Formats: sequence, C-alpha cells, structure tokens
Amino acid sequence: MRAAARFAYAVCAAAVLAACGSSDAADPSAVPPGITSPPRAEQPAGCPGTGAALQVLGSGGPIAEADRAGTSYLLWIDGEPRLLIDAGAGSFLRYAQAGGKLATLDAIVLTHLHADHAGDLAGILNSGGFEGRSKPLFVAGPDAAPRFPGMETFITRLLGKDAGAFAYNGGYTDGTENKPALAVQEITTAQGTGAPAGLDVSNDFSVMAHPVHHGVVPALGYVIDVAGKSIVITGDQSAQSERFLNDLTGSKPAILIAHHVINGDDGQPRGLHRTPEQIGALAGALEPGRLVLSHNMERSLNPITASLEAIGRAYSGPVSVAFDLDCYAL
Ligand SMILES: [Zn+2]
Ligand SMILES: [Zn+2]
Repeated sequence: MRAAARFAYAVCAAAVLAACGSSDAADPSAVPPGITSPPRAEQPAGCPGTGAALQVLGSGGPIAEADRAGTSYLLWIDGEPRLLIDAGAGSFLRYAQAGGKLATLDAIVLTHLHADHAGDLAGILNSGGFEGRSKPLFVAGPDAAPRFPGMETFITRLLGKDAGAFAYNGGYTDGTENKPALAVQEITTAQGTGAPAGLDVSNDFSVMAHPVHHGVVPALGYVIDVAGKSIVITGDQSAQSERFLNDLTGSKPAILIAHHVINGDDGQPRGLHRTPEQIGALAGALEPGRLVLSHNMERSLNPITASLEAIGRAYSGPVSVAFDLDCYAL
C-alpha cells in the first residue's frame, strides 16, 4: 500500500471509530461494521522464541505495489526457521529481515510456479550456499503442464550444471561444491483433482500437499500440522477446487490463509482465484480459528469493507489482512 493510501486508511478508520465511539479499537483483528481499514492481527514483539508460528514474508501478488513482497511464508518452531512455503518475487529481502536461514530448514515447498510465488527461489538458495549446509534439502512443487515446467524440470533449468540459468550453483543438484543436494518431489495435480500427498519432511511437523484448481496452472495448497494445530494455506486457487474444499471441510484449522486477489467485480473471476464471497464459503466450510487474507492486491484491498461483508455471509470468525513480516503464533 502506498504511504498516502495507508495514511488515508488510518485517517478513515480513526474517523469512523471517533464517530461511532467504538470500543473495538483495542482489538485490531476485530471487524467493526463500517471500518474501511484492513484489519490487522495484533502482533507479538517478534516471532516467538518457543512454540510454533507462521510468519508472512510476502503478503502481495504479481503486481509490484508499495511494500508487499510476492507470496512467501516461513514456519518457525522454537526460534528456528523450519519450512519455507513459496518464495515470491521480493521475498528474498523479507526472508533476510525475518532471520531466515537455509541451515535449519527441513524443506522448501512451492504452491506453483508463477513468479510471484517462485521468483526469489534462486536468490534464497544462492544465499544459503554461503552457510555450508551439507544435509540434503527437501523441495516440493507441482507437476508440469503446457508452459509450466514440473518442479524437477524447474530446478534443472534453474540450477542444472550443464544448462541451468544459474549453472554456477549446480552443486545443489548433486550435493557437491559445498551445497546441500535438493531432494525434489513433484506432486500430481490433475487440475485440482489429484489426491493429497503427504510429504516426509520432518519429525516435528507434517505437511500435506493438496492439489487445487488455478486455471491451467498446476497448483497446490498445503496443510501443516504442528504442535497439535493445523495451518491451511490455500495457495492461488479458484472455487473449482472442489476436492480441496471437500477434503478439508470441518477440519477446523487454527489458521486459514486464503489468497485475496480479486474483488469479485464484473469480469471476475476468470477461473484463477476465489472472490471474497468464495473465500467466505471456504472459511465457512473449514471453520478456522482465524481467517488471514494474504496475496493482497490494491484492487482487492481498496474495497475491503465490501470484501469483508461478502466473506461474512458464510464465515463469522476473526479475519485479518496479512502484512509483510506479520507473525501468527499457534
Ligand atoms: Zn499469485
Ligand atoms: Zn498464481
């Protein structure tokens, strides 16, 4: 959001609060009627030193807008970064600001191979090459479709020693040159009808990849179970992701992170994303403890009041809009 736009939101929210005399100001995650400022969850001083937390590294989308990096999330357990989900353009800087380290990661998993989700993977791996890690690193992503390489080919084209774009980092393909070998798993997506796949990543948490429908793009959502709680990340998905919805209905995750890309105006959706109303339907079915709207674009944030109303038709729990580096403790 531009500084001016953020200021306008703040002024507007303050004006409405003053006019209404609302007492909800103490809880920024509440969504009082008439508030036009994006509700933001109350933030801890830092991601917790103990326990598990999901940190939003990038809360934005493909259009370069103000202070939002492309999609990326980091799972922390007891103060160590353990799982990176997506590495969208711009997330390299947020990863550094958060204290991301390749040394302690169990895995990097990608929802799909749009640049706003995968564009900074090479930079993050390049940085990790200086850490001297030798233990193999698990990497997962979707399978191939026309104009989208599968995850294995993507890594080969990026890092392959013969013809990779960054062939000089080819040690990642075979565990040589002081780099950890990448163990790549490709998930069959079948346009969102494929079976969920459990990923053997860690003894401390579990990761399940759920194929979703994102137009012609092979794409995944992820469910992470840690410390007896679960986090659902929708990834980019349309409402045609029926298997995802059916498989997770009633699962009551602690957090549902949904990608809030479009506002449902005429001409939308085009089979790529859920409208706010369709996000609400998903949240109503899954019954999360909190719905977090991420992958925010100006076109979806500007009418945030209408979006929250649309979401509220099927879901009445807490909703917050993600900002870069926000932290959600479990
Ligand atoms: Zn996206
Ligand atoms: Zn996408």
